[in-house]
This record gives sequence, C-alpha cells and structure tokens, in this order.
Amino acid sequence: MKAGSVISYILAAIFIIFSFLLLLGSGGQGGSPTWIVYGIIGLILGFVLIFAGVRLSAAAKQTVQNVTLNVDLPGNVKMDTIKCESCGAPLAAEDMKLVNGAVTVQCHSCGTSYQITEEPKW
Ligand SMILES: [Zn+2]
Repeated sequence: MKAGSVISYILAAIFIIFSFLLLLGSGGQGGSPTWIVYGIIGLILGFVLIFAGVRLSAAAKQTVQNVTLNVDLPGNVKMDTIKCESCGAPLAAEDMKLVNGAVTVQCHSCGTSYQITEEPKW
C-alpha cells in the first residue's frame, strides 16, 4: 500500500519535470505551441498522481486505525465484565495499567492492585 503511493509520487515528479521541459521548450527554438498543451496535460497528470498518492497513503493509515480499533473493542467489552477480586466492584478500563508488560488492575473502590490472569471460560 505504501509502495503504491511512492510509485505515484515518482511518476508525478517525472510528469511534472517533463511538462516543465515541454513548456520551456515551446518558447525556444525548434519548439512548437502544441508543446504547451502537452505540458499542461502533463502537469495536470502529475498533480492528479500526487493527489492519488496522498489518497493512497491516507487509505493505508485508515486501515491501520481500523485494525487497532478492531483489536481494542473486544478488550473493552471483556473489561466491562471483570470484577474486583476483593470487593466485587466492576472494574473500568481506566483501572487497568500495563506494568512491565503485564496488565495490572487497581480497584477504584478498595484500592487493591493485582495482576490479571486470563482464565479461559470455555
Ligand atoms: Zn475492590
């Protein structure tokens, strides 16, 4: 996905450079006024390619965000059902912290902190 936007940027640069050469050449000796038309078309194509590259990289970012959202959602749903082992108060997502790679919970009701051990329910 990232390669696609890079390729479109490179193509855009080539189009714009050649378009400028055509526009410059049209005024000089051996040039023809039709070069201006080709130059303008080339410039438009170059900017369209830049736009496509921006869209491609934006789309790539969006898919990354979607992936993290999909990962986060089941975690939040699971957290709603977790209760404090000491007092039984429901634990919120804000009570959970990552300490040294382990999920640690500090209960907001009784202040007890302990590590979450995942037990399969099936
Ligand atoms: Zn508690």
